[in-house]
Amino acid sequence: MQILLKYLLLIEPDRQRLSRFVLYAVEELGGNVFSATLLVEKCMKQLFEAVHVRQETVEVVLSLDGEKIYLALADSACLISELGEMPPSEKVQEVSMRLKQESELADPEVLRQRNARITEDLERAKAKAAEEMKQLETELEYRRIELEQAQRNAEKDSLTDLYNHGFYDQRLEEAMARCKRQGEALCLLMLDVDKFKEINDTHGHVYGDEYLKRVADSMNDACRTEVDYCCRLGGDEFAIIIFSNASMSERIAKNILKSMDMNVSIGIAQMLPDDTVKTFSERCDQALYEAKENGRGQVAVSNIRVVDKSKKKLKQ
Ligand code: GH3
Ligand code: MG
Repeated sequence: MQILLKYLLLIEPDRQRLSRFVLYAVEELGGNVFSATLLVEKCMKQLFEAVHVRQETVEVVLSLDGEKIYLALADSACLISELGEMPPSEKVQEVSMRLKQESELADPEVLRQRNARITEDLERAKAKAAEEMKQLETELEYRRIELEQAQRNAEKDSLTDLYNHGFYDQRLEEAMARCKRQGEALCLLMLDVDKFKEINDTHGHVYGDEYLKRVADSMNDACRTEVDYCCRLGGDEFAIIIFSNASMSERIAKNILKSMDMNVSIGIAQMLPDDTVKTFSERCDQALYEAKENGRGQVAVSNIRVVDKSKKKLKQ
């Protein structure tokens, strides 16, 4: 037996379509369409009674058994046509293909099932995309943290977490330009630990490292970290870019000195209108040198001072 068509019966117009399909098959396979029409009519009645009773979709099968065409529902089959001779198998193939295509084209159940499948596929694709998006976001967040870390590493000294020399150079130049433009005071504070070599030699390198961290803490505590820049220039040398005048910087320096038990030397210079990074740094360095020369454990302020807003230089 060969199935020509499986058809889901749902509603009244389906009955007409099914009749059309059956008669098409009869004609194409060489049967008598006239007598088949009557038989289809009769058979449909029985079928639709069954649909009514079941109150649900029923599957009807159109099949070819030898030379006979049947229309069947579950266990009951109606003979629709006797062909007289077996149709060629290619013809049977062609007819069943055509019926399949035609029936699927507008079958509401098939369309519904197809829609359901498409919706399911879409939902799956959406869920997959959402999952991939989540993964990408996580990856992005991870990269952002890495980048932040890399930027931080590029700016900060790993031992003390103060800004490093590279950052200091860059910020000093920027700070000078900005303060000159806005006519604001800017100071540079340089600090060097006294006899740090001895500290290392006496207590060891690890202790020495802790000592440097203590210097960093004292610096952070003494100035406004959200405004000023605390930097480690290297070894036991530190600097603070202070956005204020010499007297405020001196106060900051004295607080650091006190919290470091007078064991550091500090030089301070206030920026002059004509200063370049080089002259400004040199004056500060000179002040630090004086603090060392005068016996260490003290603060020295560059002897060139800014006296008033007319920006005159006065040697003291
Ligand atoms: P001065 O009072 O003249 O400044 O004497 P000093 O001993 O501090 O000067 P010096 O420059 O001779 O010594 C600095 C020492 O700091 C030498 C070096 O071994 C040590 N040092 C540099 N970097 C580090 C570091 O990261 N950790 C430790 N523990 N020691 C360091
Ligand atoms: Mg030193």
